Amino acid sequence: MSDQLKYRRILLKLSGEALMGDADYGIDPKVIGRLADEIIEIQRIGIQIGVVIGGGNIFRGAGLAAAGMDRVTGDHMGMLATVMNALAMQDAVEKRGGFARVMSAIQIHDVAEDFIRRRAIRHIEKGRIALFAAGTGNPFFTTDSAAALRAVELGADLLLKATKVDGVYSADPAKVHDAERFEQLSYDQVIERKLAVMDTAAIALCRDHRMPLRIYDMTVPGNLMRIMRGEPIGTLVDA
Ligand code: UDP
Repeated sequence: MSDQLKYRRILLKLSGEALMGDADYGIDPKVIGRLADEIIEIQRIGIQIGVVIGGGNIFRGAGLAAAGMDRVTGDHMGMLATVMNALAMQDAVEKRGGFARVMSAIQIHDVAEDFIRRRAIRHIEKGRIALFAAGTGNPFFTTDSAAALRAVELGADLLLKATKVDGVYSADPAKVHDAERFEQLSYDQVIERKLAVMDTAAIALCRDHRMPLRIYDMTVPGNLMRIMRGEPIGTLVDA
């Protein structure tokens, strides 16, 4: 079956906000459960999966700094928030009969393995879903950059960014009625037009390593599988 698959190994970026559902904080068990179902479904057809999880549903360093906190401390809290989200996803995957391992970029041995590239590759080759927590491990970065980094490190065929809209638009479609929706863009177009896809560091890393990036609507059940089958869901950024 895996011979028919368009992708062999993918890196999925889930923002913390993706886990909140309609709430404005924390994790909605129904939402994380459905995402876990979809991830397990594509693992079972033979796709190797790494997931980078954000933390914006709990803490963001920039937000904490704006409220007066030291930025580096805020970023540490943001990274720890991603560890909590990854643990919740690990639990959701395992409750559904899948296998998952949280690997953290910050050493936190009592709750997660360290991120070690070769070990991560071994996990995904064995059918475990690798959940990459704590971003890059460094302040002043984002989990978008971590996703691009892990995708390149793991030799993924595709970086997928899950969002709540059906692709990249010229402006926020919730605010601008006639915003243009793009099927495909180049990395340079994204950077030059300042399109809200991922931060510039993440896009530049993808560009420099020719990592194709697809932005898709994760609120539509089944989209992940459709993309794995080769359907052009959302917006593709490449070349
Ligand atoms: N963060 C960091 N370094 C990283 C990744 C994340 O310091 O490499 C911190 C940063 O404060 C960030 C927070 O963790 O705001 C949560 O990550 P992010 O904002 O990317 O989460 P998302 O928006 O995807 O939910």
